[in-house]
Amino acid sequence: MPPHGAWRETARRAGSKGRLGVTGASLIEPERETILCEAPVRPEGRFVLYWMQQSQRASFNPALERAVEYAADLGLPVLVAFGLTAFPEATARHYDFMLRGLAEVRTALARRGIGFVIRREPPHRLVHRLAEDAALVVCDRGYLRIQRAWRAEAAKGLNRRLVQVEGDVVAPVETASDHHEIAARTLRPKLLRLLDRYLHDLPPRPVAHPAGPGLPVSDVDLDDIPRLVAGLRVDQAVGPVRRFTPGETAARERLAAFAQSGLARYGEDRGRPEAGVASQLSPYLHFGQISPVEIALAARSAELPDGAAKYLDELVVRRELAVNHAWYAPHYDRFDVLPAWARRTLAAHAGDPRPHLYGRVQLEAGETHDPDFNAAMLEMTATGYMHNALRMYWGKKILQWSASPEEAWETALALNNRWFLDGRDPSSFANVGWLFGLHDRPWGPQPVFGTVRSMGPNVLKKFDAAAYRRQVSELARAEAPGAEPRPQAR
Ligand SMILES: Cc1cc2nc3c(=O)[nH]c(=O)nc-3n(C[C@H](O)[C@H](O)[C@H](O)COP(=O)(O)OP(=O)(O)OC[C@H]3O[C@@H](n4cnc5c(N)ncnc54)[C@H](O)[C@@H]3O)c2cc1C
Repeated sequence: MPPHGAWRETARRAGSKGRLGVTGASLIEPERETILCEAPVRPEGRFVLYWMQQSQRASFNPALERAVEYAADLGLPVLVAFGLTAFPEATARHYDFMLRGLAEVRTALARRGIGFVIRREPPHRLVHRLAEDAALVVCDRGYLRIQRAWRAEAAKGLNRRLVQVEGDVVAPVETASDHHEIAARTLRPKLLRLLDRYLHDLPPRPVAHPAGPGLPVSDVDLDDIPRLVAGLRVDQAVGPVRRFTPGETAARERLAAFAQSGLARYGEDRGRPEAGVASQLSPYLHFGQISPVEIALAARSAELPDGAAKYLDELVVRRELAVNHAWYAPHYDRFDVLPAWARRTLAAHAGDPRPHLYGRVQLEAGETHDPDFNAAMLEMTATGYMHNALRMYWGKKILQWSASPEEAWETALALNNRWFLDGRDPSSFANVGWLFGLHDRPWGPQPVFGTVRSMGPNVLKKFDAAAYRRQVSELARAEAPGAEPRPQAR
């Protein structure tokens, strides 16, 4: 991919003047849209191609609705294409969740008269192949290196216009801020000012020309996902989980349940893992199976000012701070992305004796002296999720008990991305970074941590740790082979 700066130069905001001129009023704010390849629109094409990659959903999807708008204007059907390929660190657990979600997308699109094709091919190559018959290509936006590289490759040498529509954040990343933010407190006021502009409904646009026969067909069988996943060359040791039912419908059900029962207590109890008030929507957000705007609207309309404000702070400010980090710090996954003060103090304390010393194998197996750490590790490996309060404790202990801060960084990132369903996300890199001082400030000095914020056993006194450990045992039992299938966990 081109260097970061060059990538930004090749992309041009569609803006009002630069909009393709093939459509009238749009439901999508112009600043969500960027032309990645200036090649002409070819109205003689057979369809408008939407290359779906990040926004894996059939509704409340700005890129999809924009493709539908263009197609209506051109008198063409829409074809959605997905390229199934290797994604760094993705496991059988991740592919199972994603593919089940895509099976639902296929069905939901068919109901709207929109075609869907999935092929085992790197997405940019699939785009080049299918673009031959397309009038233009629309894609969604991702912020990680590989997602940027795919889009840069797709734009290179394409002889159709390629338009990117940014639909998995509330505020487009460059509209929110034009630089790498140092903390939530610097980004928060900018985002809050933009909420009213971006928090609005996105009803499905009517599909004027339904997809008929003769469109390209899939070479991937979404009707037998276990077989499909078993045949992928990915880490098969990390298997699917029952705790989270994949897909848009499940995401909406979870949102509805959260709005009804969790949100009211979120302000007060969000720090207590055993209280069950967290939304558990992060896996769905990671795979684009639900829009953050849809979630934020539901939270706002619940008229629970305290819970909603706290929730929106996590969903919008914290989440979009992570996106800001991934976008403006291209080395988001490297130890040297940390602020200089944090690297200096960690280096100064690198030789401090550790109260306990564990390597990755012991940590991953949950074989430490600390039953709360071990329970958190079990929740992660068995169910693919962990509450935020435990994630902080878990990660700070890895820093405290590893031989060096660099080793801790490698271990925390590797475990995070291997086991969490929401791993390999901008939020993964920003939050693992936070363990080491990113987006934070210096605190009183401590052994090993230096002035990076530490976390001791007092954190565990803020909630019922014994109840949490019992819950984890139950959750892990429900994941064991042969356990009864259970309804969605709350
Ligand atoms: C060490 C560590 C590692 C983490 N790794 C990940 C990760 O791999 N993927 C991931 O999505 N989140 C990660 N987080 C952030 C946060 O813990 C999870 O997003 C949250 O726990 C998900 O659960 P929930 O959906 O029930 O959250 P809720 O409490 O219901 O919050 C709602 C939404 O707000 C967003 N959110 C909440 N807290 C944060 C945060 N600190 N940063 C960014 N967004 C946030 C999430 O999208 C979440 O779904 C990590 C946090 C820490 C401390």
